[in-house]
Amino acid sequence: MMQEPLVITIDGPAGAGKSTVAQMLAARLGLMYVDSGATYRAAALKVLEAGIDPNDTVAVGRVIGATNVQVTTGEGEPHVLVNGDDVTALLRTPEVTLAAAQVSRLPEVRVKLIELQRAFARDRGVVMEGRDIGTVVFPQAQLKIFLKADMEERARRRLKQDSRDSSKATLERTAYEIGRRDQLDAERKISPLMPAPDAVEIDSTYLLADQVVEQILELARNRQLVCDEGKKAL
Ligand code: C5P
Repeated sequence: MMQEPLVITIDGPAGAGKSTVAQMLAARLGLMYVDSGATYRAAALKVLEAGIDPNDTVAVGRVIGATNVQVTTGEGEPHVLVNGDDVTALLRTPEVTLAAAQVSRLPEVRVKLIELQRAFARDRGVVMEGRDIGTVVFPQAQLKIFLKADMEERARRRLKQDSRDSSKATLERTAYEIGRRDQLDAERKISPLMPAPDAVEIDSTYLLADQVVEQILELARNRQLVCDEGKKAL
């Protein structure tokens, strides 16, 4: 019998360490790493470039209908293409970050991107991180993690990731921005940010990324999950 590809989902609020952990875990298991947030950021970029208010649902729906988002899956870092153009370097500005949380509330946007996200796991195993991966994108995933951390720690990590100074004022501003985005993500009607009922919650506030990865590997071993791509690592 054909084995289903192994799917591990990592959801959680902004700055909880999802991407670091998901990338390390994917590398350990020989699985593909997918950052679903990048697909929402790509859609947001297109909306901003079209000069449209990300809250204008009708106009956003029209732009997204004519937008083709792709993520390269070859060797090396994944690249995000919008209508064929590589936009990877443009996705992490504060404007795109906020617009991503606005456009991601629309069903037209989610339906399109979820289809793209599911296609990654069609014939190979993945570690995918986001907000609704365990609840909506892969409700049948073999292992679901909900990663969280205290707000102050999340703000500190975000500043470090973006190589920005960590003065008290910047830290407060970053915590405010993260809180605002969490609220948008948690309060939206479709696919809100929340743990799947069968997700394992890990609080990473006092843990190093390595330690979180070890905990997840331990869970995978205990469940006797089979990873064809990296049997030895499990
Ligand atoms: O993870 P990242 O910060 O790149 O995500 C950007 C935004 O994309 C989030 O704030 C959220 O609104 C949206 N998103 C989502 N569902 C996902 C991943 C991201 O709605 N699975």
